[in-house]
Amino acid sequence: MKLGRRTLSPTPENLEKPMKVWQQPLPEIYPQLSEAELRLRIESARAALGDRLVILGHHYQQDAVVQFADFTGDSFELSRNAASQKGIEYVIFCGVHFMAESADILTDENVWVILPDLGAGCSMADMANLDQTLECWEQLQEQCPDQTIVPITYMNSSAAIKAFVGEHGGAVCTSSNCRNVLEWALKGGAAAQTSTARKVKVLFFPDQHLGRNTAYAMGYPLDSMVVWDPRQELGGNDPRRLHNADFVLWKGHCSVHALFRPEHVDQVRQQYPDMRVIVHPECKWEVVQRADMAGSTAYIVKQVEAAPPGTEWAIGTEVHLVNRLRNAHPEQKIVVLSDCQCLCTTMYRIDLPHLCWVLENLLEGKVVNPIQVDAKTRKWALVALDRMLAIKGTVGPHGNDSSASGPVQISTQAGIVD
Ligand code: SF4
Repeated sequence: MKLGRRTLSPTPENLEKPMKVWQQPLPEIYPQLSEAELRLRIESARAALGDRLVILGHHYQQDAVVQFADFTGDSFELSRNAASQKGIEYVIFCGVHFMAESADILTDENVWVILPDLGAGCSMADMANLDQTLECWEQLQEQCPDQTIVPITYMNSSAAIKAFVGEHGGAVCTSSNCRNVLEWALKGGAAAQTSTARKVKVLFFPDQHLGRNTAYAMGYPLDSMVVWDPRQELGGNDPRRLHNADFVLWKGHCSVHALFRPEHVDQVRQQYPDMRVIVHPECKWEVVQRADMAGSTAYIVKQVEAAPPGTEWAIGTEVHLVNRLRNAHPEQKIVVLSDCQCLCTTMYRIDLPHLCWVLENLLEGKVVNPIQVDAKTRKWALVALDRMLAIKGTVGPHGNDSSASGPVQISTQAGIVD
């Protein structure tokens, strides 16, 4: 009988649980290997492990690593791909910490999920922790006892925040289905059947920009939203404004997408009058408003793939995805929206030496860097994820979330994109 990850006898490597965020230095040999040697060793280990293993590569991952990925995509799509593989024992997630947590939540109990470098965190996910969330929740309940508050979290959040949301009547959303999930939340979320006609307020984690861009596209004015700063009493808000707000947006952001500024769009317009500007909705509202289109990574990829030769694009998202699109479509002109280093530096920590190290440990029967979500957190996070999937419009025709086919509906210069 195969031993599941929750019944496997502890080895020194397995005793890294509960997981740490500190990455032990690699054995000396790995940083000394040439790229060619690393490739050979990775290929050899990969072949030996065969179909016991799946390697996932996020869209923002560097090419050297992505070439070994069985699946490439956004975080939720990748986790669902892993969950649909039958009989696998290991998932190596070449992404960041919250993505590996999501894969652990969605895959079978017998599957070990491994993050090759534990230092690969996400600046946005790290901006909301559970203690701050509980404090915020208590203060909101006190200030708004006459309202139904529905917590919604973006996929880019820790498992603990997803579980909090699940336990309190809310759901997870992706950048593709955020509008559908917010529409559901504004009807009262999971409490819609039971609550009377109370005002509904949405508490949105952790990306204020995705929340603001989506709510604005739905017709909510900016003054119907407040930002919750977890370091301040009442999130830094006047009690009356807080009470009246329809959306409470957690003060979080992606450090990569925050680098794009409105003047970058203006510069592109001046330099390339025919160029279309397409950005991710993690960008600031001012940038999204100036862009021609906004949508998830899958939406951006789809738009470029469908465009005729000669189309010109300035893309506002992580540089590795933009470079990959440029290489795949030499018939189009594709540039990064700005010349800043729009690089997800934490994801960049996953490199060939780390991939080789985890694979060769697996060959020896050792699981290093396992990412494990405890049973209670997993249960409630799954509730939040299942609610998302049950909301109409959140599941695309390919069985993945609507990022596989659908755009984020964001108001831009060109109007609502859909
Ligand atoms: Fe997190 Fe931003 Fe990196 Fe995505 S690009 S993993 S949101 S820091």
